[in-house]
Amino acid sequence: MSKIVSQIKNNIFNTYPVKVGVFFNPKIQMKVAFDLDNTLIVSHFSFPVELPKRRFWAYFCKYEPLRAGTVALFDFCKQQGWEIWIYTTSFRSVSYIKRLFWLYGIGLNGVVNQEIHNKKANANSSKYPPSFGIDVIVDDSEGVKIEGKKYNFNAIWIQPDNINWVADIKSQLLSLLV
Ligand SMILES: [Mg+2]
Repeated sequence: MSKIVSQIKNNIFNTYPVKVGVFFNPKIQMKVAFDLDNTLIVSHFSFPVELPKRRFWAYFCKYEPLRAGTVALFDFCKQQGWEIWIYTTSFRSVSYIKRLFWLYGIGLNGVVNQEIHNKKANANSSKYPPSFGIDVIVDDSEGVKIEGKKYNFNAIWIQPDNINWVADIKSQLLSLLV
């Protein structure tokens, strides 16, 4: 059994030892975090983007368009029962980020920006998902992948020019559960 599954199951069984173990088999409550720049939002690299669902409100708001496929990918994660978080080293405000995803019809479970990271992360790493209970981070930075190995957290490295990025992330996330 992979480390992530045993960690999550230990947490669930420690919290609800009888109920969960005997009466039903719960979905794995994985917390998945996504980077923004060059992963979901165009920064140095360009990739196709999609239009918001809430066009009326988008007309009045300043926002950055999301990478084409983001909504489908996040819908998939929600269907699995997973939490969706944003973890960015930018100083975009939490309210801006939540509003941006709201325009696309996506509710986020949590946001970590550089300010929150600086206050709460307890490792000398550019990102440290375990400080926020996050099980895996999806990021375009190879540095984050290297930090994942060094500080023992799960990181999925997805490059901005990967046209199969949605399928690759789905299969890598599912592979964490086997
Ligand atoms: Mg990035």
